[in-house]
Amino acid sequence: MANSTHPETIVLHAGYRSDSATNAVAVPIYQTTSYQFDSTEHASNLFALKELGNIYTRIMNPTTDVLEQRVTAMEGGAAALALASGQAASMTAIQNICHAGDNFVSSTDLYGGTWNLFSNTFKAMGIEVRYVDPADPEGFATATDERTRCYYAETLPNPKLNVFPIKEVAEIGRNLGVPLIMDNTACPVLCRPFDHGAAVIVYSTTKYIGGHGTSIGGLLVDGGNFDWEAAGDRFPMLNQPDPSYHGAVWTEAVKPLGPIAYILKARVTLLRDSGAAMSPFNAFQFIQGLETLPLRMERHCSNADAVAEFLSGHGKVTNVIHPSQQDGETRRRADTYLKGGHGGLVGFELEGGVEAGKRFIDALELFYHVANIGDARSLAIHPASTTHSQLTPEDQLATGVSEGYVRLSIGIEHIDDILADLKQALDAA
Ligand code: PLP
Repeated sequence: MANSTHPETIVLHAGYRSDSATNAVAVPIYQTTSYQFDSTEHASNLFALKELGNIYTRIMNPTTDVLEQRVTAMEGGAAALALASGQAASMTAIQNICHAGDNFVSSTDLYGGTWNLFSNTFKAMGIEVRYVDPADPEGFATATDERTRCYYAETLPNPKLNVFPIKEVAEIGRNLGVPLIMDNTACPVLCRPFDHGAAVIVYSTTKYIGGHGTSIGGLLVDGGNFDWEAAGDRFPMLNQPDPSYHGAVWTEAVKPLGPIAYILKARVTLLRDSGAAMSPFNAFQFIQGLETLPLRMERHCSNADAVAEFLSGHGKVTNVIHPSQQDGETRRRADTYLKGGHGGLVGFELEGGVEAGKRFIDALELFYHVANIGDARSLAIHPASTTHSQLTPEDQLATGVSEGYVRLSIGIEHIDDILADLKQALDAA
């Protein structure tokens, strides 16, 4: 069973059987800051990474470790690192390999918070983002130069919901020695980016993995499938002595441990310094969420398909955005990369534009009006006046947000109740 390849089994069993001290079957919440060292030699071995073990909860924790191992197994990766939020995960993913003067190439189709991080915060740090429309994967090659450290994209980016060409861009990157980092937040289980050549996965666990709207968290998963050493000069941060860790060369230091240079460096330098650690209590919540994730994704997907079909036949709706409604190359990508469903997000535009959008949202009774996605409950929001409001109107349009766009995150309630609420709110719109 420990070697199962089925996500339904992995999320319940990988990385933990029972507690070594108490035999507890549920993963205990190790609510501790510190861990007693066995001896001075043990302590110095841990700090020197000669032995792996617990030092301090800002850097590692046994509860969090189970979450990291489970998600690693679910994705078929080498190791994972939990962080305080999805934002902390995307920030760490880039900063782990980019310094001032470096650049990275990102898809234009991004969550608004990630867009801000890349366009403003990284810019102020001297790290340049180069945006490319993923409709043409070759744009990634054209934007690459010798200071390009990675490519970045979302698998199922909301609001456009155009699935990203993972294999095509990963291959371009591998030929140039550039790793592809995929934010897979919107479609865990449905897509496994490492199967298509991605090198690193980013998650906001706040969404589907948590699944119950209780906790903010994030994760990075290292595929262990990218040869950082072979890419040589492109990754001085991994291939040259690191002054922040007594001259460790990360690709050398991990040789006895496995292909985990990227994630080990992120843990023992960036997480150590940023302090953006996930709390053990939140890790426990995410472990609970993970246990039912494959089952919930099935229901999110079947409900969302039904909602997309209902909306596409409604007279007040001018456009439905959902992979089930796409055709051509966009549809081919959805069918290639999403297995077992099209995800739980549905976008649509109303005949009456922004005012009709607001009336619709105000009339909802079952749906919550919130800034989240991936909750077991159905959620709705008007992005132009909320999540994407800090972007200029031009940047909003570039990320796919028109004035009248409404985003739905379809929950796991009975489909009849979801459709009834949408119907009555559309009547009021
Ligand atoms: N990535 C995606 C695709 C998201 O939708 C979000 C949040 O909405 C994030 C990252 C950021 O995650 P968090 O809110 O956990 O910081």
